[in-house]
Amino acid sequence: MLVVQKFGGTSVGDLDRIQNVANRVKKSVDAGDQVVVVVSAMSGETNKLIDYAHYYSKTPSVREMDLLLSSGERVTSALLAIALQEMGIASVAMSGRQAGITTDGIHTKARIEMIDPEPILRQTRNGSVVVVAGFQGITQEGDVTTLGRGGSDLTAVAIAGAIKADLCEIFTDVDGVYTTDPRIEPLAKKLEKISYDEMLELASLGAKVLQNRSVEMAKKLNVKLVTRNSFNENEGTLIVNEEEIMEQPIVSGIALDKNQARVTLRGVTDRPGIAAEIFGALAAANINVDMIVQNVGDSGKTNLGFTVPKTELIAAQKAIEGFKKDFDSVDFDNNIAKVSIVGVGMKSHSGVAAKAFTSLSNENINILMIGTSEIKISVVVHEKYSELAVRSLHAAYELDK
Ligand code: ADP
Ligand code: ASP
Ligand code: MG
Repeated sequence: MLVVQKFGGTSVGDLDRIQNVANRVKKSVDAGDQVVVVVSAMSGETNKLIDYAHYYSKTPSVREMDLLLSSGERVTSALLAIALQEMGIASVAMSGRQAGITTDGIHTKARIEMIDPEPILRQTRNGSVVVVAGFQGITQEGDVTTLGRGGSDLTAVAIAGAIKADLCEIFTDVDGVYTTDPRIEPLAKKLEKISYDEMLELASLGAKVLQNRSVEMAKKLNVKLVTRNSFNENEGTLIVNEEEIMEQPIVSGIALDKNQARVTLRGVTDRPGIAAEIFGALAAANINVDMIVQNVGDSGKTNLGFTVPKTELIAAQKAIEGFKKDFDSVDFDNNIAKVSIVGVGMKSHSGVAAKAFTSLSNENINILMIGTSEIKISVVVHEKYSELAVRSLHAAYELDK
């Protein structure tokens, strides 16, 4: 079997843990598998490098940030290859560039455009374990890029697709995908299976157990994907097509995203084209706008609220500067969080939203924004109450049962 095994930050968090990973990889090799490993930076390393850059600048140049951040995963890949070699296993470490990963030029959140499977396959054919540094690639012009936070998951899935691996295993620090973050709600239940679509929603809405783009890619390339714990042998969670799940609960999980900030524009001139201009400027600055709420206009003015990632708030502030004459005032709120309820069963059931609002009101939690789609309901609440909101919704939909 040809397998891709990805080990996250905690799993390679120190030298002993890297040795533990090496032992685990050896087991697969001994069992006859051809293994390609993808590693993250040691836990805390990426944040440390970001802090280093912020020592000099609040807005460091993204090109240099990518060169800096990509180094974290390279350290781990080289160390793991050395550990494997010492155990008598032929192993080659590769940076994203060496592994043939080409991306577009959107620094700090680049998209993979192409992976040449040959550099990796040449080594696996020779019987070597390839250890790829996750989270990075290279542009056509030769600049190093990174794939966005949590991007090593994407590296793993994309490689699995490119080399047509039989399986992609994402090893992390929990047993699999739970009904909600088990660190917030200890009563959360591990799911045996979850559909690509629900996993994609949960991941996009803040469940960082899998990076959202990796799930999207797995669905597109038909990669068999499983998440499991690197510290035990428990069976993980399989990500599958919806048809493969017999009994679909109405709600499958609750996600929490504390990385959003809210922008509120008051007294916006209510004329055709104004939204297109504002959101056009934000898009031009590569800012990911999420929830958008516009009030009913009143005497030629309206209020417009939306959320952006906290890390993009300064860029959003800059982009909005240009529209000063089109609104009366603006405020930026960092102390919010988005709580979301996800389930494909919502498509065919009513009353799901009402239950959420009742549950939050019973806890006296004020809802600042609401957004819905076919299989999710999101609410923005004050960050202080967000974990309580998660637990109360988890109980309301009986996900602990
Ligand atoms: P890694 O470093 O291995 O990539 P991450 O920290 O990115 O790991 O993701 C694993 C974490 O995701 C878990 O420790 C858990 O706290 C969090 N998490 C959030 N939502 C969920 C969920 N629904 N199921 C499992 N874990 C979740
Ligand atoms: N090291 C990167 C991060 O912390 C990528 C990853 O771990 O997947 O976001
Ligand atoms: Mg991760």
